[in-house]
Amino acid sequence: MVAPAVVFDIDGVLRLGERAVEGAPKMIERLRQLEIPHLFLSNTSSSPQKVSDNLKTSLGIDMDRNQFVVSHSPFAELLAPFQGSTDPLLVVGIDKQSAADVRNLYNIPNAIGAGELFEALPSDSVPSLAPKHCQRSGPVAESMASSRFAGIVVMADSDNWTRDIQLVLDALRFGGRCSPAQIKTWLDAGGDDKQQHIPIFFANPDFVYGAAHPSPRLTQGAFRAAVETLFERATGKHLDVTQVGKPSAISYRYAATLLGTQSSVDHDKVYMIGDNPESDIRGANGAGWVSCLVRTGIGARVDVDALPVEDRPRLVFPTVVEAVQHIIDEVSR
Ligand SMILES: [Mg+2]
Repeated sequence: MVAPAVVFDIDGVLRLGERAVEGAPKMIERLRQLEIPHLFLSNTSSSPQKVSDNLKTSLGIDMDRNQFVVSHSPFAELLAPFQGSTDPLLVVGIDKQSAADVRNLYNIPNAIGAGELFEALPSDSVPSLAPKHCQRSGPVAESMASSRFAGIVVMADSDNWTRDIQLVLDALRFGGRCSPAQIKTWLDAGGDDKQQHIPIFFANPDFVYGAAHPSPRLTQGAFRAAVETLFERATGKHLDVTQVGKPSAISYRYAATLLGTQSSVDHDKVYMIGDNPESDIRGANGAGWVSCLVRTGIGARVDVDALPVEDRPRLVFPTVVEAVQHIIDEVSR
């Protein structure tokens, strides 16, 4: 029998802050007992293992980390061409952690974080940071500084916009180079700095996210807007980017493939349960899934009738409990 499947957003759907939505753990348990395939699709920049551990703490149930798709999960396919390349990838995000994630999760042993690269470069690479900069020396630092990057990966929120925007623009415009000496040689040889020379990948398209702060905080989509604007200002050209994460079609295709490997799934009957029309619902509609909006999290304040057609949910439920009950009823009908 071809089975339906369920894809859950996490925050605002299964938990509110650290607290589980009432009845949510029991509904996940029922899906398991009925052997209905299900996945968790989130725009977080943590690793699937961390999200799984975290959800275990809030919901009290053990879940396989292979059931988690995070914002950067599609990099497993997109970064595969860089595996084995002698030219490293430049990684923006939380210093050391994000580069380590690219190395470990996506098997790119020579990924370098923007922070560690900056330490290896001369102070005038980012003049406003020069007073606090102390250049590292030695063969490792020298080899890092002279890298010619094959591409740029924005894995998480930049922990230093000033530094990261400068290094990203340098690598994009100077053929993957960030060291002043190498840039000079390249320019002297006639390099064209009005072009994009290497690809750039962004993990999470969200412009802001809701945190404890009274006003939403800027996140990776805002960093992308800054890089695009400044690249265009510097070169007069549009920046080509590869964006993954909800609502990108790439992330939904990736989740669909993963569901397909779990069992024989009817892709017309994949239910996406989310609280955010602009990401969960838009992506699900684009993928041809059954989009379900819940009235918890962001969904509590949404005026469905005022939404643009691409963000309009097929079904609306008070909480995830009623949504899953509806799906179980459909299956047993
Ligand atoms: Mg959400």
